[in-house]
Amino acid sequence: MKKIILAAINARYTHSCLALYCLKSALRGIDVEAVVREFSINRNAEEIMQSLVSEKADVIALSVYIWNSALVRKLIPALHEQCGDALLVLGGPEVSYNPASWLEAFPFIDFIVTGHGEEGLKVLAEKGFRGGKKIIALPNPHFNQMPFPYTEEDLEGLRTRYIYYESSRGCPFRCAYCLSSRSDQNLELKNVETVKAELNLILRKGPRLVKFVDRTFNADLDHSRAIWRYLLEKHGGGPATFHFEIHPHLLDEEDFEILSRARRDCSSSRRGSSPRTRKPWPQ
Ligand code: SF4
Repeated sequence: MKKIILAAINARYTHSCLALYCLKSALRGIDVEAVVREFSINRNAEEIMQSLVSEKADVIALSVYIWNSALVRKLIPALHEQCGDALLVLGGPEVSYNPASWLEAFPFIDFIVTGHGEEGLKVLAEKGFRGGKKIIALPNPHFNQMPFPYTEEDLEGLRTRYIYYESSRGCPFRCAYCLSSRSDQNLELKNVETVKAELNLILRKGPRLVKFVDRTFNADLDHSRAIWRYLLEKHGGGPATFHFEIHPHLLDEEDFEILSRARRDCSSSRRGSSPRTRKPWPQ
């Protein structure tokens, strides 16, 4: 059985990388051992490299984002040298729009999985990471069909860190400077009843901060209002703080009425604060 390390370098220790858990869940049912390993950019490339080498994996899959791209560029030549037998796979937004230039700069990369990645990595794993093209560009099924990314064990391990969750993928807007405006990033919503059930699984573990990474959470008003109402009614008195990225210009009186029912707390996601420290807003 092949051992696959799904690795990411997060911007802070408290952050976690939702993509890795999505990829791990996409590999369920395939005869591989998928292991999530998360680092923070405060660790140097040598430390991260040694940690990955010590895993003796068959495949190392690295998630590349804007905040870790420079470190990944520094890391992968050494990783290739030290783990010569392990296959190196890259994925994530930073390699998805320009995979050819990454392959040109680092020809030893075995595969680059573009786009959301679950289907691409799954098919690659099913084929035993053998042969074919180096750039794997396979569309996912509709987001509504994607499995819940976390296991009980994952949620337990993330209880004191930020838990990321998405109730939709893609964005209907086309801001020229943003990767989420690409034509392969169309808005796809998860069924609200599924979202409620998944949030219950997360909140059962008592996390302090749940961050929705929906690109524009209120892009579909029926969807966002149904989730806000549910959280306020069922979990409004709980310890969790919820973070949403929204478009303010889409808010109207109905949203203000719903949101006015939320507890008046200082967001624990403010810069420099930890998910464990919460102070009241000044009255
Ligand atoms: S995610 Fe935000 S910045 Fe990006 S396209 Fe959508 S609205 Fe624009």
